[in-house]
Amino acid sequence: MEKTNTFNSKTLLKVGIYLRLSNEDKDKLSKSDSSESIKNQRNMLMQYIAKHPEFTLAGEYCDEDLSGAGTYRPAFERLIKDCEDKKLDIVLCKSQSRFSRDMEIVEKYINNKFKEWNIRFIGLSDNADTENRGNKKARQINGLVNEWYLEDVSNNIRSAFYSKMKQGELISPFAPFGYDISPENNNKLIIDPIAATTVKDIYNLYLTGMGFTGIAKYLNRKNIPSPSLYKYHKGIKLNVISKRPREMIKWNPNQVKTILTNEVYLGHLIQGKRTTISYKNHKIIYKDKSKWIRKENTHESIIDENLFNKVQELIKKRSKPLKSSGMVHTLAGKVVCLECGHNMRKKSTRKHDYLTCYSNNSGYDDCINKASIRYDVVEEIVLKALNDLLIKYYDKDILIDLKSQNLKDQYTKKIAELQNQKIALEKEIAKTRNYLKNLYEDKVNGIIPVKEFNTLIKEYSENDNNYNKQIKAINSSIKNLNIKKQDLNNNLLNKYLHINKLTRIIVQEFIDKIYVGKINKEKNTRDIQIKWNIK
Ligand SMILES: [Zn+2]
Repeated sequence: MEKTNTFNSKTLLKVGIYLRLSNEDKDKLSKSDSSESIKNQRNMLMQYIAKHPEFTLAGEYCDEDLSGAGTYRPAFERLIKDCEDKKLDIVLCKSQSRFSRDMEIVEKYINNKFKEWNIRFIGLSDNADTENRGNKKARQINGLVNEWYLEDVSNNIRSAFYSKMKQGELISPFAPFGYDISPENNNKLIIDPIAATTVKDIYNLYLTGMGFTGIAKYLNRKNIPSPSLYKYHKGIKLNVISKRPREMIKWNPNQVKTILTNEVYLGHLIQGKRTTISYKNHKIIYKDKSKWIRKENTHESIIDENLFNKVQELIKKRSKPLKSSGMVHTLAGKVVCLECGHNMRKKSTRKHDYLTCYSNNSGYDDCINKASIRYDVVEEIVLKALNDLLIKYYDKDILIDLKSQNLKDQYTKKIAELQNQKIALEKEIAKTRNYLKNLYEDKVNGIIPVKEFNTLIKEYSENDNNYNKQIKAINSSIKNLNIKKQDLNNNLLNKYLHINKLTRIIVQEFIDKIYVGKINKEKNTRDIQIKWNIK
């Protein structure tokens, strides 16, 4: 006891203890008490400090990283920073291997930088101590053994992962967007209903003709959180450390494409797409598709096979370089001569594009459908017919103003209107009740006779009842509209209330054939018929 008092705070050596969970701990202990090992390490180190009165605990640095290789270890980095800033005199660890199993790191810090910064390293179980000069060779041998060990562990982990993937067990700690990792089984995916809705929306949006960029913009406009922002909101630690503010992480076309092509949404697990060079070099290599590990029906699907295949087909079509000009015109392959059944071909002059029956073009099969037709005229007719069709298809009750184009806006507007009506009614009710109150007071004060009072009371109660009935009706209308609005979210195809411009995709989606007949010279008309894909 006497001895302790001879040290004042100035001479006390500031000790930083570094704790790390390792694979050995994981093997030895059941998963649930992984923290047990950290506790043991801490106890061991604290006892050591207690035995040395010249030591004082200046900081604890704890990483739960299991590998001990050069992966992300935030506490380790903090420790190094504090060493550099001279906040510590001693770094204390259970062993040198807890500090790092990587020879390069051991060399860099324990054998070099620490010396430069005047920091002593002590590893308890392997008697590593930089203050002891004869200790260096032993430490280096230790380091080498540790590195071999790490290589073995890494290979073991790789083969363990491989067999897990073969069995269709999820090995990533992160679920793909639309899914969660099951709380009961961390190798299994379960649906995250909110994100799954967005996934479905993305597929449906693509069908409506939007591209990857269009969809990304659309989602950003609607303030739908991007996958990483969504993860962040859910409190899931991200594997990518970004300096950008979270709210700035928006959807990008690549994410949309990834979602549109990922078979995980069919309920299949495809893993092992990438690998790293070695346990030390974490550079990612993308493996050949033939080496991916595939297991079908490992979890519930979000997208049905039909929809998925349709989207894949469209992606292929849209990315395929097209013949000659590299562009396919909007109505290509869709316009047919009503008279002879041959395709109508597009011809361009300097002023306009035209469609002409192929038979007349080729010269050997004369067709009575001689006159060409302006391309933009056909487009205009088709567009109008398509919009007429859409009106027929969708909610007739709500369809008041076609120009506003967005059914959801219509619902929102209608809901707001109803809510205003409700507020007005509630005001009326308040007024009525006030009247009743005054009326009652008048009666009590003998101002109005009983008979008159009763009549008035009856009248006002009827009004009150009426208002309440109306409010009830409004409430149920609002509820219905909200359900309809929700349905719209679920089926974004419905949002195509009005199409402003024909695109190749829209044509593919809606139109089977467009038949163009010959000109009726007497009436100066021309028969144009559209065969729709939808029944
Ligand atoms: Zn023809």
